[in-house]
Amino acid sequence: MLELADILREGGQAYRQVHGARMLPSHLRAMRAIEDCRTAALGGHLRACDHCGQRQYAYHSCRNRHCPKCHRDQTQRWLEHTRAQLLPCPYFLVTFTLPAELRALARSHQKVVYGLLMRSAAEALLKLTADPDYLGARPGILAVPHTWTRAMTFHPHVQILVTAGGWRDGHAPGWVPSKRPDFLVPGRALSIVFRAKLRDALRHAGLVHHIPNEVWRKDWVVHLQHAGSGDKVLEYLARYVFRIALVNSRLERFDNGQVTFRFRDARSGRTKHCTLATAAFIARFLQHVLPRGFPKVRHSGLFSPSRKPVLEQARATLVGSSAKALRTPSVDADAPALVIETVPADKRTRCSACGLGVMHVIDIPRRWSPPP
Ligand SMILES: [Zn+2]
Ligand SMILES: [Zn+2]
Repeated sequence: MLELADILREGGQAYRQVHGARMLPSHLRAMRAIEDCRTAALGGHLRACDHCGQRQYAYHSCRNRHCPKCHRDQTQRWLEHTRAQLLPCPYFLVTFTLPAELRALARSHQKVVYGLLMRSAAEALLKLTADPDYLGARPGILAVPHTWTRAMTFHPHVQILVTAGGWRDGHAPGWVPSKRPDFLVPGRALSIVFRAKLRDALRHAGLVHHIPNEVWRKDWVVHLQHAGSGDKVLEYLARYVFRIALVNSRLERFDNGQVTFRFRDARSGRTKHCTLATAAFIARFLQHVLPRGFPKVRHSGLFSPSRKPVLEQARATLVGSSAKALRTPSVDADAPALVIETVPADKRTRCSACGLGVMHVIDIPRRWSPPP
């Protein structure tokens, strides 16, 4: 199967010769890590089965968070962990998009602008849900930034999984469900508050003078959709928590200095193909590399780490009421599951020779090359 690493190994050197001096260190690091992932360049380790003694050499993986081959286990662990933290209630998926006029600024000030985009989106949601006209309670918020379209063009937006309800503090504390199953807060008001929050934040950061004025007068795109129990959305978000923009299986061809990849058109739902010269393809991928250390997932509202006790109180309330609802015959098929499925142990650590034992690392030589 064709991999991003194959394309970088073949075209990366030429790309660095042309762009190297102007490349961001994060881009250079990601590129080299993906090129070296699971090759002799990173060395390897020797594993042995604890049942039959079978030995196996394996190259080290790069663990760069932009590598499409790494992090399978972390993704699964993140998904299980986060699933267990979610409240058993319905959810909405809210997408806040950075307007086109701010993309240049986002490119030149990635860390600041992505951070403010995520914060402003969460704050806008918290402000409107606190309004008693809409909810009058604090929802749980989990936000993940994405910077790409399916064709990998630059399109920063933040996707937020938010509870369709929230916890009300005060003299009568308790869980407040959204007023209607298809309504949390009005989208237009959310877009206006989001715009105002981000403008204030950018002004505070001293960046507002870089931006054309008309962007503050146009409508910003905020999209709310019902997300059922939240589980499907979480699975989708998990796919990109430890990688960016592209899965290797979407790569179709790499020949004559050109790369072809497949994507699903957001409007028509049809599969389309995009063919780019190798250097253009590399540039398109690299623009989604995040600044070093940028936190990819942010929790706020009821999911903020400082509100753990309240979150557990909300969970106890919801589990109690779901248990009651489950005893009545009219249960919504989409109702949250109370039992979290346990996922079997990672198959890849099981011995392929005997199928019984587990492979353990027994040696990590300093200088290592695979047996001939
Ligand atoms: Zn074995
Ligand atoms: Zn890797």
